[in-house]
Amino acid sequence: MNASSLETWYLQLTDRCTNACPHCFSSCSPAGRAVVPFALVRKWIHHMSVIAAKRIVFTGGEPFLYFPMLRNLVHEAATRNLWPAVWTNGYWITGTEEFRLTLRYLADVGLKQMILSDDAYHGVTTFSAFADQLAPLAAELGVDLRWARIEPKNPSAPPDYLFADHHVLAGPLMFRGRAAMECTAHQMRWSLADFDACPFLSFESPKSLYIDVRGFLNICPGFPLADMKIVSLKKFFMDFELEKHSVAHAIATGGPARLAAQLGVADEDGFVDFCHACWALRHGPSTQGR
Ligand code: SF4
Repeated sequence: MNASSLETWYLQLTDRCTNACPHCFSSCSPAGRAVVPFALVRKWIHHMSVIAAKRIVFTGGEPFLYFPMLRNLVHEAATRNLWPAVWTNGYWITGTEEFRLTLRYLADVGLKQMILSDDAYHGVTTFSAFADQLAPLAAELGVDLRWARIEPKNPSAPPDYLFADHHVLAGPLMFRGRAAMECTAHQMRWSLADFDACPFLSFESPKSLYIDVRGFLNICPGFPLADMKIVSLKKFFMDFELEKHSVAHAIATGGPARLAAQLGVADEDGFVDFCHACWALRHGPSTQGR
């Protein structure tokens, strides 16, 4: 795998969240209890800094639920010359002063960016009355505030093709994770033959990689390639051969259509978009154990 295109590492700290949003690609909820092992994360951060010292986004679940660990890891990443960011639903932002004081703890140890979810899927937020004051307050602390605003997809719109990346902060919903199960009922379906690529990422030269709370390195959330508790990140990059990952190879070379052919799965009801087809096939009974 080529690291030269890599722009962002995503690191899921927990699957626990204050919400259980229907569109969540990592299927998090208040029932989640998994937390990444701190000692391992420190090792991963060290290897990330050697492979590609780029942005690292701490995600969840809701990472602010484990604030002491989040702060330590932001500090660790900044010390290793990574560019630390955090993605939150902002449940803790109950006022402008609370926002400034909390963010300051992270800015002081090197946080560069905060991504704040604020859309119809996240419902009413505690900060809606003063949302326009947050970016200037963050900027005073040297933190770039970005909004993540995902929109419902028009039920009859055709599948989206070629976003710049699959971790977009705005635009229509992609049907992965819980979204593939809970948000597809009223969407128009399209033939499997239409899904003959993954239009969103390169498997050989990815722009981003995602380490989940169980320690798996994913090319896309929910699409694991290796267990980082067993294989070192550096060794993974040195040894990666797409041909040895049969599911990934099928998606990379012919999309969900090729994977379905490989699995001998028929196109019964069609799929909502590329990710829905990809997710459903990879989590279907034909793929388990491969
Ligand atoms: S098509 Fe599959 S691999 Fe590509 S972005 Fe969607 S879920 Fe991820």
